[in-house]
Amino acid sequence: MKAVINRIIPFSSVDGPGNRTAVFFQGCNIDCKYCHNPETRGICRNCGACVDVCPTGALSYTEEGIVCYDGAKCVQCDTCIHICPHDSSPRTQEMTPEEVYERVKRQIPFIRGISVSGGECMLQPDFLTRLFFLARADGLTTMIDSNGTIPFRGYPGLMEVTDGVMLDIKAFDGAEHRKVTGASNETVLANAVYLAEHAKLYEVRVVVAPGLYDAERSVKEMGAFLAPYRKIHDFRIKLIAFRPMGVRKQYAHYGVPDAAYLNRLAELLRDLGYKDIVIT
Ligand code: SF4
Ligand code: SF4
Repeated sequence: MKAVINRIIPFSSVDGPGNRTAVFFQGCNIDCKYCHNPETRGICRNCGACVDVCPTGALSYTEEGIVCYDGAKCVQCDTCIHICPHDSSPRTQEMTPEEVYERVKRQIPFIRGISVSGGECMLQPDFLTRLFFLARADGLTTMIDSNGTIPFRGYPGLMEVTDGVMLDIKAFDGAEHRKVTGASNETVLANAVYLAEHAKLYEVRVVVAPGLYDAERSVKEMGAFLAPYRKIHDFRIKLIAFRPMGVRKQYAHYGVPDAAYLNRLAELLRDLGYKDIVIT
């Protein structure tokens, strides 16, 4: 069993509770306008466009025409990901769950757990199940960061070894969600309920991008929809301000929300009884 891994960050304090090793999977199934790492969306097609522009010769072809990457020569200039016509990166690696876990294990004395993200990591549920099984055996906690478009209900084995999920709700209204992501939010909302009912909803993430959708209405309606589930298990809501860094040029024009606007959204949630609200 293998998955394409974009990168592994040994220490992260923003991908779940405590200090964690974060694993980013390559490949996504939706198209968020505000995606700030669009190079994780596609799988490399070995077109070679990046090989010709790499200034240090870190990229080359194998005899079979596969693009390969030499990390020792790379200066992290990102020229390759900017030129890639397929929203991909040549700096990815195909790995087994055991190989990924070997990289996680090195941090064990210093981390509370492992978090998986992307791309969309739920496109690889069997890989996650195996990886989390290994992590749990060493006493690490396990968190999933997901866009919510893959039904968690369909993977009871994975849920058994998962401590919590950080779920994106990119818009509460179906038409607005489609505008933001190109996809329906029916499964996302069903996932929110399923995870909340099973005490696995750790955090709901909302990117606030003025001009793209009505965040105020969305936060209010989403907050009211999920509020009853806080009785089962409380969860955090994280309001994330849109920032244009890394966003594709054609989508970088959305406004950056100011502190007053973000505080107003937080206030709406407080009025609904939410206590754990983070603005970032
Ligand atoms: S970031 Fe990409 S283009 Fe730049 S040196 Fe590394 S491989 Fe080459
Ligand atoms: S990373 Fe992109 S540009 Fe480079 S070979 Fe793969 S698809 Fe082509």
